[in-house]
Amino acid sequence: MGWIAFYFNLSIISKEVVVLDECIFCKIVKGEIPCTKLYEDEQVLSFLDIMPAAKGHALVIPKNHYATLLDMPHEELKFVTEVIQKVAAATMVALPEVEGFNVLQSNNEVAGQLVPHVHFHIIPRHKDDKLNFAWEQGASEMAELKKYAELVKGKIE
Ligand code: AMP
Ligand code: ZN
Repeated sequence: MGWIAFYFNLSIISKEVVVLDECIFCKIVKGEIPCTKLYEDEQVLSFLDIMPAAKGHALVIPKNHYATLLDMPHEELKFVTEVIQKVAAATMVALPEVEGFNVLQSNNEVAGQLVPHVHFHIIPRHKDDKLNFAWEQGASEMAELKKYAELVKGKIE
């Protein structure tokens, strides 16, 4: 691991956690950059987004550095998912007039991922807030849906 860590600028900060030196969220994990912490355990960290879409906008990340969702081991994804549920539940009861929330997760630049350390947004929603995650709904034909289903189904492992 020593040589691999050197080559990729990785740091092993505990038995469990490997971070990437130049990654902003890894710096938060290491405590080199401050954050407004909501939750922490051995594998997972949650903190408030510094440029919130709504008050209480939270992020949940694995402490280990993975660029996208596809890079994460299943076990760690389960831990992260549990924390998403815990933080979302707390947000719903703790913050005034929060009636719902969106969980948003972007992978790769084309999808709007700015920080290449996998993270989940929990965005509290209020009645009549101006947030808009709506997209123009497209048309579909059964033959085309079937074609795309066949393409994807064949690759599910
Ligand atoms: P994304 O576009 O999904 O990659 O979102 C990255 C999010 O990270 C943005 O909403 C930023 O506001 C947030 N962010 C970037 N740097 C920090 C930081 N130091 N502390 C908290 N949130 C951050
Ligand atoms: Zn990182």
